[in-house]
This record gives sequence, C-alpha cells and structure tokens, in this order.
Amino acid sequence: MHIHIFWDSLSPPGLQIPVTRQISSILGMPVTVSENHVRMMGYVDGRKQIDAQVLLDSIQAYKHRHAIKDPILLVVHQDLFKNGNSFVFGLARQSVGAAVISTARLSNEYYGRVGNDDDLIDRITKEGTHEVGHLLGLDHCHDQECIMFKPDTLDELDRKKKVLCKMCSEYLSGHLKSD
Ligand SMILES: [Zn+2]
Ligand SMILES: [Zn+2]
Repeated sequence: MHIHIFWDSLSPPGLQIPVTRQISSILGMPVTVSENHVRMMGYVDGRKQIDAQVLLDSIQAYKHRHAIKDPILLVVHQDLFKNGNSFVFGLARQSVGAAVISTARLSNEYYGRVGNDDDLIDRITKEGTHEVGHLLGLDHCHDQECIMFKPDTLDELDRKKKVLCKMCSEYLSGHLKSD
C-alpha cells in the first residue's frame, strides 16, 4: 500500500514536502507527492466553489484510466462544497480510494489573521490524513484530539493532535496487516 498525493499547481507552494512527510509518519506508510494530473472539474461559477463529488468522479476516472489501485489524495486551493453542505474541508470516497481536500479555509488569512506556514502545514496534514484515514477504512472518532474526529470549524481542526487515538491506530494496524 502506497498513498499518492496530487498537489494542484495553485495550492500553497513549498509545503508539499513537509505535509507529505508528516502524513507518512502519522499513518506509518509510504506517501509520495507529485503535481496534479487529474482533470479539474465541478467548478460552479455562481458559488465560486467546486462540487467535491464531481471532482471525486474525475479522480475515479483518472484512476480507472491508469489502472491505479493505491489511494489518491488531491490537494486543491479552491473552496469545496457538497450537496447539502455550504462547504467541506475535504471529502473521501472509500469505495474507489479517492479523496480531495481544499486549502481555501485552512489559512489564517482566510479568517483575517496573520499568515503562518507552520499553521497551514499542520492543518493540511490533519485534514489530509483524516481523508486518507477514511480511504483506509476508518470512520469518524469521538475523541476530539484524534485525527479522525470530524471538525466543523477551524478551531475544532486546530484542537486535534497530529495522531490517531489508540483505538483508531489499532484498527489501522490490524486492517493493514490483514491486507
Ligand atoms: Zn471525515
Ligand atoms: Zn480515533
């Protein structure tokens, strides 16, 4: 098992290496990053957002075309929404091993605060690991400090630690070994 991260050319530059290393160390598996090859789809002019489901369709089509079995996480800079939600930080489709996250709401600047690369690296790492966690079979966790806790706000995302709780990490190691 190997995780591929596709980094959209307009996502924050220079952060992909630290983010990739951290996700790899939290999950304990190889993760590589490259520029994005998936066709960007699902942009809705009126909302200035991308429909995350449509973008997942595009990743799914890409994986099918190139016969890629391993999970792909796409990192984009545009804001994402899905049907019924005004926005989502990210979305995963476990059945096809495809996930997407947006950096749009992860920067301090979005909330009128002073920008900080370390904050941004932390948040992309947490959100990215969370969605990959879904691809590896993990559900949401009630532990507010666990990566698999579902944050509704930036504060809730910041409250999480960059670790899986004991239960989630035991599930993951059991699940991966049996593969
Ligand atoms: Zn989730
Ligand atoms: Zn947990």
